[in-house]
Amino acid sequence: MKIGVPKEIKTYENRVALTPSGVAALTQAGHQVLVETSAGSACGYPDEQYRRAGAQMTTAAEAWSADLVVKVKEPQPVEYGYFRPNLMLFTYLHLAAAPDLADALMAEGVTAIGYETVQDAEGRLPLLAPMSEIAGRLAPQLGAQYLENHQGGLGILISGVPGVPAAHVVIVGGGTVGTAAAKMAVGMGARVSILDINPNRLAWLDDVFGSRIQTLWAHPAALGDAVRSADIVIGAVLVPGDRAPKVVTTEMVQQMTAGSVIVDVAIDQGGCVETIDRATTHENPTYTRFGVTHYAVANIPGSVARTATQALTNVTLPYVIALSRGLTGALQERPELRSGINIADGRITHAAVAKALDRAY
Ligand code: NAD
Repeated sequence: MKIGVPKEIKTYENRVALTPSGVAALTQAGHQVLVETSAGSACGYPDEQYRRAGAQMTTAAEAWSADLVVKVKEPQPVEYGYFRPNLMLFTYLHLAAAPDLADALMAEGVTAIGYETVQDAEGRLPLLAPMSEIAGRLAPQLGAQYLENHQGGLGILISGVPGVPAAHVVIVGGGTVGTAAAKMAVGMGARVSILDINPNRLAWLDDVFGSRIQTLWAHPAALGDAVRSADIVIGAVLVPGDRAPKVVTTEMVQQMTAGSVIVDVAIDQGGCVETIDRATTHENPTYTRFGVTHYAVANIPGSVARTATQALTNVTLPYVIALSRGLTGALQERPELRSGINIADGRITHAAVAKALDRAY
């Protein structure tokens, strides 16, 4: 099979879909891998390493002409022209927040498989998890940075110092992002509260972190109290495939202290904070509402591209190998791929995505 790896063109997106060793695994299995020139250069993988792995270095159009195109981020509007029937696209799609992309994929008959909705028998999201680990680990670090005065913050050191309190970090959603954020925030010396609606998850978090964090069931009153007292709020809620529920309301944000920070990691599914009405970019990552710094970058791991590329290839490669044998065989080998199919035969094939976009299913 011909497998294409285009260069990512989203703003400040430095990741690439496959490392050279991932490419080598495919070429050794007899596949032709077309990698766009300089696709890996921003994360330290020069073209020469891909050539040595057996790839052909090509133009964007040639990479997109492959039977299976493997990417990192959702295609950008200038890439829609490459869509065609018989194209299998395997990437993060986040269609709940991208109706135009969904329409373009349907109109051209693309089979679009979203990493973020591949769900295994235990309900885990194996292809979202590594990026969630990274975004979660970065979130407290970002929050700490925007608490600094010259970044418009309150001038609070996240750890405090002897005799002065640490920052209060409130994490909404205790899944992969939330847990990774808690790990870092605890390590940085913050006071940490995590809210979730899943009592089993709260019990697990309590077992793992013990008294180093406070777990709270996420009913609106508890959430309001926690947000009001927060120096950093980290949004980490997910209902797979669906738009994120706006659990942090405008009223809650209005009650936060000016100079505090919101890092809404859930922005790729539309955001879980009502005052966040648009995604931002690494180029211009924040804006201020009611005196509170809002950070809403939808591709946070793109800023640690080398780590993220390696972590992504680790989990996607087995699925790319399965897909390289054709969709039917891949579904037999890895049944969980079925939940990743968001669009096929010109229609939406994932219930939550259809609901989020208010389209037929
Ligand atoms: P996850 O499924 O592991 O965790 C989500 C958690 O949200 C679950 O524990 C769930 O119980 C909880 N939840 C659901 N509804 C809730 C509600 N109403 N109130 C409180 N908690 C609720 O998901 P994850 O992997 O942690 O991902 C979280 C979000 O971060 C997703 O939208 C994901 O796409 C996003 N993400 C963004 C980036 C980025 O760069 N911005 C990177 C990685 C992941």
